[in-house]
Amino acid sequence: MAADPSRVISNLRELAALTSDENGAQRVAFTPTWQKARDWFAGKLSGLPVGRHRDAAGNVWLTLPGESPRSLVLGSHLDSVPNGGWLDGALGVLTALEVLRSIAEDCNGRPPFTLRLVDWADEEGARFGRSLFGSSAFAGKDSIAADRLRSDRDGITLEAALDENGIEIDRIGDASAEQENIAAYLELHIEQGPVLERLGLPLATVLGTKGVERHAITFRGQEAHSGSTPMQDRRDALAAAARLALEIYTIAGRHKDAVCTMGSVKTFPGIVTAVVGRCECTLDQRDLSPDVLAQMYREAIEASERFASQQGCTVEWSRIWSIEPIPFHPKLIALCRESIEEIAPGCPSLPSGPLHDAAEVARAGIPTVMMFTQSLGGISHNKVEDSSEEHLGLAVAAFDRLARKTLTWLGQE
Ligand SMILES: [Zn+2]
Repeated sequence: MAADPSRVISNLRELAALTSDENGAQRVAFTPTWQKARDWFAGKLSGLPVGRHRDAAGNVWLTLPGESPRSLVLGSHLDSVPNGGWLDGALGVLTALEVLRSIAEDCNGRPPFTLRLVDWADEEGARFGRSLFGSSAFAGKDSIAADRLRSDRDGITLEAALDENGIEIDRIGDASAEQENIAAYLELHIEQGPVLERLGLPLATVLGTKGVERHAITFRGQEAHSGSTPMQDRRDALAAAARLALEIYTIAGRHKDAVCTMGSVKTFPGIVTAVVGRCECTLDQRDLSPDVLAQMYREAIEASERFASQQGCTVEWSRIWSIEPIPFHPKLIALCRESIEEIAPGCPSLPSGPLHDAAEVARAGIPTVMMFTQSLGGISHNKVEDSSEEHLGLAVAAFDRLARKTLTWLGQE
C-alpha cells in the first residue's frame, strides 16, 4: 500500500494544534513546546517495528532493521522559528513517518535495506543564532568552541540549554557515529519561495544548495559641508555605494538562478548637512555553481573599485562568511525527477537558496537529494505559511515513490 497523504495531513494539523498559538508554530528547539512536539511524535510510533534513540547532539533516530545494515535515511526537523508555519520541517518528518510505515507494511516489517528516520535538532537556530545544529554535529562540521558562548535573549547560554535537554556540549561530535552504514538521505521540504507558484507546478527536484559569499564593503571619501561643497568637488562615499547597489542587478542578471543582495548600508557621519565620508555596506552573493559565484564576486570587486575611483573614494572588502555550493547526488536527482514526473508531469529542477539539513548530510559525503513542494505566496517563517492539500498529497505520493526507487537503486549498486 502506498503512503497515505490524508494521514500525513491530519498528523500535521494535530501537531499544529498542539504546538501553535494565535501567532503561529512555537516549536523552538530546546524549549518545552519543542519537547512536547517530540513526545507527541514518539506517541505516533506504536505498532511500528522501529527502535528509537537520541544521539549525542539531540537528533532523534528511528530504525526499521532491514535484511542489510546499509540504510536509507528519510528526515527533516520538528523545530520551528517563533511564530512559524505548520509545514516548515514538520512536513518532511511526518511524510517520512508515513513512508516508513507503508514500506514496513509492504515488506512485512523487514525491508531489503535498513530504513531510518531522523528528526534533526535545532535546524532553525532561532534561539541561539546557530542554524543546522544537529545535522552539522552529525556531519562532523560543528564548531563547539565558537558556539559555547552563544546566549539567547534571556542570557541563557547554549551550553546551559543543551544541559537542560540532557545534551553535553563537549560530546555533540559523537553524533557523527550515526553516519555508519548510511547509503542515501532524502528530504521533503516546502520551497519557502515563489518559484513553483509562478511556474504553476506543485513539485521540484532540488539540485543542491547555493554557495554563499558574504562580505563587508567600506567606501571612504571625504566628509564635507552640504551647503558649501560644489557637486564636482565631492568625494561622496554613498554615491559610490549606491552605484554598486544597482550594479549587482546586472551582475546577478547574467546568470539564471544567481542572487546578490546589499542588505545593509550605513552612512557616516549620517547627518542631513554633510556629504557622506564613509559608507559601510554588506553584499551577499549566492549561486549553485562555484564558477559563477567566483565570477560574480570578482565582478562586484571590479565594479566597486571603478565606482570608488569615479567618485574620488577608496574601497575595502572583508569577508564575513562564505560556504561552498553543495550539489546533490546525480543519480538521486534523476530518481527524484522520475518520481515527480510519474505523479505530476512537469518537474523543474531548482537550486535551494536557503541551507537545509540535507546540505550537511551531503557535506558528510552521503548521496543526498531534496524534493520541494509549492509554498502559497512563497511565504514561510510566518504563521500564514501554507501549501494546498492537493499539492501536499502529490508531495507525499512522489516522496513515497522516491524512497522506493532509492531502495531499488541500492539493491542494484
Ligand atoms: Zn525547514
